[in-house]
Amino acid sequence: MRMKRDHFCGTLSKKNAGKEVVVAGWVKTRRDHGGLIFVDLIDKSGVVQLVFDPATSKETHSVARSLREGWVIAAGGKVFLRPSESVNPKISTGEVEIRVEKIEVLNTSLPLPFSPEDKIDVAEEVRLRYRYIDLRRPVMQKNIRLRYEVTKTVREFLDKKGFIEVETPFLTKSTPEGARDYLVPSRLNPGEFYALPQSPQLFKQILMVAGFERYFQIVKCFRDEDLRADRQPEHTQIDIELSFIDEEDIFELIEGMLKYVFERAGGVSISTPFPRLSYTEAIERYGSDKPDTRFGMELKDFSFLGEEGKFKTFQEIVKNGGCIKGIHLAEGSCLSRKELDELRVWTTNYGVRDLAWVIFKEKIKSPLAKFYAPSTMDKLIKVAGAKKGDALFLIADEKERVCKALGQLRIYLARKFNLIPRNSYRLLWIVDFPLFEKDETGKLSPVHHPFTSPREEDLPFLETDPEKVRSRAYDIVLNGEEIGGGSIRVHKKDLQEKIFGLLGINKTEAREKFGFLLDALSLGAPPHGGIAMGLDRLVMILAGEKSIREVIPFPKTQKAVCLLTQAPAPVKEEQLKELHIKLR
Ligand code: ASP
Repeated sequence: MRMKRDHFCGTLSKKNAGKEVVVAGWVKTRRDHGGLIFVDLIDKSGVVQLVFDPATSKETHSVARSLREGWVIAAGGKVFLRPSESVNPKISTGEVEIRVEKIEVLNTSLPLPFSPEDKIDVAEEVRLRYRYIDLRRPVMQKNIRLRYEVTKTVREFLDKKGFIEVETPFLTKSTPEGARDYLVPSRLNPGEFYALPQSPQLFKQILMVAGFERYFQIVKCFRDEDLRADRQPEHTQIDIELSFIDEEDIFELIEGMLKYVFERAGGVSISTPFPRLSYTEAIERYGSDKPDTRFGMELKDFSFLGEEGKFKTFQEIVKNGGCIKGIHLAEGSCLSRKELDELRVWTTNYGVRDLAWVIFKEKIKSPLAKFYAPSTMDKLIKVAGAKKGDALFLIADEKERVCKALGQLRIYLARKFNLIPRNSYRLLWIVDFPLFEKDETGKLSPVHHPFTSPREEDLPFLETDPEKVRSRAYDIVLNGEEIGGGSIRVHKKDLQEKIFGLLGINKTEAREKFGFLLDALSLGAPPHGGIAMGLDRLVMILAGEKSIREVIPFPKTQKAVCLLTQAPAPVKEEQLKELHIKLR
């Protein structure tokens, strides 16, 4: 490059008027006005208008005529104030323009697959295939820069609190977090495989045994999960571990960290401490263990409808230990019969039998009304706290199923009726999770991971009634998204062995898989605990985006494919041979 850039496009203003500058960047648009040619030039800082006048330089002007969108140029000339009628108040450089004297074309470009502008109507596959063009869009530049600001402020904050960032290996052994492992074959050890870490869980615990006391790492984690909405095979965590602490220390640390990050990186002020909700209460009140508390519509209990009146279905469900719960939609009486029927069908997708509705206008309208005395219907309205014009939705079934279906309905209706306030950030802790859950076969599995400590007072139930044992785990929820979770860990070998046993991992298997951890726990492991925050999700919410793919520079598709590089891809026969692998 012969011309040396000395200014960024987006930084020029009135102050630079009269100065000679050299800028460089990409041609956004070229407008040929017969004599004068106008070019909008963009670089990382923004846009500036270049003017080519044949009277200044014929040669330069003729080069300008050949410019196309996406070409890369350097341009030198004097900064002028624009005539008042052509001032553009929408851009920061709108008062000035550069009258170009010299130009250098640094590279040409084929016609772009799409213009790198914010508002585009382009399929996501095309955006991902040409990600470098997509990333030129101002909104993507903003998102990726916000991501950097978040990691920078996290590091700043944790550094001030005495944490150090320590790297842990990617080629390692399985670290169970409830997903499938990505395996990497070992060439030097035929038939053996590394697993990419699902999290640095065991290494961070071992760093506590090693005496570091305050560790963090902004780190990739790999989980070969089935393709549920908005997951990525590799995601980034802010991973943290501390020694000689309890839950309160973690809460205080993370509340402080998020406050700091939200303020500095996002320009948002949030209040601390965050409310805490037990897992059971979250399910009962919101039908979710990651409730969106930006709006009300809490679940209420109407099980009295199984005791009063003469509706057999309700009576039987309640008699068999089920319940009747419902939500109340303010001004929901505008729903048509067709919409109500659609909602009934929609709800059955969540594994419950039916949805009953009550419309409260001048009179109460509901398929339930014929089974109940008017006084019971009035009680229903009263318990719900409904006003004229509102609607109620009730579900009767097994309790957990009722709560979960209503939880989904709550979100669905809130979105449909625009009840979720924008630019509002509701953070909360979910605590008192059960330690285990049972699968269909009756096998216990950990609700978080097998290294989570049970609550001291629940230890006696480990043998007798393990499902009753509560864990020392916590999740953190932001606007209905789980953005992190962690726990106080088991730091004694015997207890860890006992938990492995309950999970059906026998002594030999435990030794084989986690021998190194058990050894470490028997060589002076301090009490410790930690948390991991999902960076992608956190940035997504701060950026006001709906998908984490909008804040990940090079994401994969729902099929775990990178459309830019076309990974994964077949490999040569020789490579497989070297790895001692034969394809079936
Ligand atoms: N390792 C856990 C996870 O990745 C977080 C933790 O317990 O700190 O979800």
